[in-house]
Amino acid sequence: MIIASNFKTNHTRKSTREFVSKVADFAKNLSVDVRIYPPSSALDCFDLSKNIKIGAQNFYPAQYGSFTGEIGFEQLEEFKIDSLLVGHSERRSILGESNELIKEKFDFAKAKNVEIIFCIGEPQTVWAGGSLAVLDYLWNQLEGIDLKYEKLIIAYEPVWAIGTGRSAPLEEIENTLSFLKEDIDRPLLYGGSVKAENIAEILRLKSCDGVLVGSASWNVENFIEMIKIANEELK
Ligand code: PEP
Repeated sequence: MIIASNFKTNHTRKSTREFVSKVADFAKNLSVDVRIYPPSSALDCFDLSKNIKIGAQNFYPAQYGSFTGEIGFEQLEEFKIDSLLVGHSERRSILGESNELIKEKFDFAKAKNVEIIFCIGEPQTVWAGGSLAVLDYLWNQLEGIDLKYEKLIIAYEPVWAIGTGRSAPLEEIENTLSFLKEDIDRPLLYGGSVKAENIAEILRLKSCDGVLVGSASWNVENFIEMIKIANEELK
């Protein structure tokens, strides 16, 4: 079971260190797999147990080069980063990343043999069209992605549920994940307004293998509480 925290553009280098140290201390003997994605300015080498990884929220698909403002793979290797978020909806909609660029990033990261949390999710207009429209949209986002890649994790995050406080209904999450599971033999996460109050019921869904959490995870005590609940669910 994977519990991942996406810091987005929050936390400093100092507060990330404190956060990682508290989480590492709490989760070191648990069975839950924890992922933390700080901003790139806070990446560093941390002393962590095997079930905890620090990852990058973004990278440019090049080892190094002239890509002003971007972070290449050489800069990630310096901190032994081996988990990456690819295709997050904010990168798609705010930063304008196309399916083509996202696929390029996926292929690059796969060639580097690193873990990829590949994010997909439909906007509200598509959601309003019903479950077939949603699945069609998601499969389009997955086009060209090697779904057999052994370090691939898929995060299903309906765009309208991200940062809104309004998680998708449980039945809809399970429906979508179970359809995806028919063709994807990799862990499937749900993301979109997950918090301590709803994480247990989401993790209990048959097809859900974990969660990707934004805002509710930025406070370290809240994140630790969610890890604790997840660990209880494993018992
Ligand atoms: C996210 O950004 O991946 C996310 C799920 O955010 P939030 O938990 O705030 O909805």
